[in-house]
Amino acid sequence: MIFFLFLQLHSFYEIIKAVIFMNIYNLTREELENYFETKNEKKFKATQVYEWLYQKKIKQWDQMSNIKKEVREKLQQDFVIELPKIIKKESDTDVNKYLFELKDEERVEAVLMHHDYGLSLCVSSEVGCNMGCKFCESGRLKKVRNLTTGEMVGQILAIEEDIHASLYSVVIMGIGEPFDNYENVIRFIKIINDAKGLQIGARHITVSTCGLVPKIKEIADFPIQINLAISLHAPNDELRSKLMPINRAYPIKEVLNAVEEYIKKTHRRVTIEYILLKDVNDSVECAIQLADLLKGMNAYVNLIPYNETEAMEFKKSKKSQIDLFYNTLQSKKIGVTVRREFGSKISAACGQLRSKKV
Ligand code: SAH
Repeated sequence: MIFFLFLQLHSFYEIIKAVIFMNIYNLTREELENYFETKNEKKFKATQVYEWLYQKKIKQWDQMSNIKKEVREKLQQDFVIELPKIIKKESDTDVNKYLFELKDEERVEAVLMHHDYGLSLCVSSEVGCNMGCKFCESGRLKKVRNLTTGEMVGQILAIEEDIHASLYSVVIMGIGEPFDNYENVIRFIKIINDAKGLQIGARHITVSTCGLVPKIKEIADFPIQINLAISLHAPNDELRSKLMPINRAYPIKEVLNAVEEYIKKTHRRVTIEYILLKDVNDSVECAIQLADLLKGMNAYVNLIPYNETEAMEFKKSKKSQIDLFYNTLQSKKIGVTVRREFGSKISAACGQLRSKKV
């Protein structure tokens, strides 16, 4: 009887700990140093813990052999070591899509792409998305919540564990608007870039935003110089407001002014993403307007062939129209590339990810 009660209490304690206590993957190294200081322990212990977590990929406290038992016990009382659960994997040529279940049973997806130069992972930043872009599947489910930093880091760790390999690059372009979950995304970048963390170089990290102007300005002062991509998708406010409701709050001019400010401070070249939607934004006239907007800016355009989804009325532009748009930009001396298409068969492509419960 007493034993049974003990078991009940024990599992109750585990549940409470998981709800109240922190996932260790939420913490930057600096935050972990502060934690140790409040416990009257030396700061360098944070580095040791980081090495166990991120380099040796250890998930049990008692395996952290260079950390004293009392310290390990304290850590165990205060933190859990927890990765999101992979519940489904689908594959297509050079791409694998992972479905994760989170602790509260919400679901998100991440997409692993096999490039010639290495592995790139597209991570989600939110469950659902509030931006409501008309062409994007991910936004059909309104935002349920932000992902925690640990849930974003966990997407990487769980996939690296699954494939027994390390990533070359990370793009924050999955479900969600990363700048609508700014604090957690910034922490995520610090952890994955940390020399004692996942050691992913700043130039191998890209964040894509639909254009939240105050956050574009804020990230200009962020010391880790990642790549910034802006989802523009239309060359004038009338069309952009129809496709992307966020344009009513932050019209094109304000977005591009913020981008100019960002470039001035960081000296970094910015990517302008532009989905080509058949007969909507793919005319030569649109290409000319886009070239005029970007003239003289240290930016290049990444043209995205639209990935059709069942529920959306938009169609993909014809190859000949994509070429015409591309050539028009080039003739106006605007740098331009066409994004390689990945995984549309398994709905793993940009804008096809959903946090559906199926
Ligand atoms: N919220 C962020 C990141 C998520 S989407 C943003 O808006 O940038 C990543 C990129 O895929 C964005 O440029 C987005 O506009 C684009 N995208 C969305 N739906 C798409 C679709 N069906 N086909 C191709 N690209 C799409």
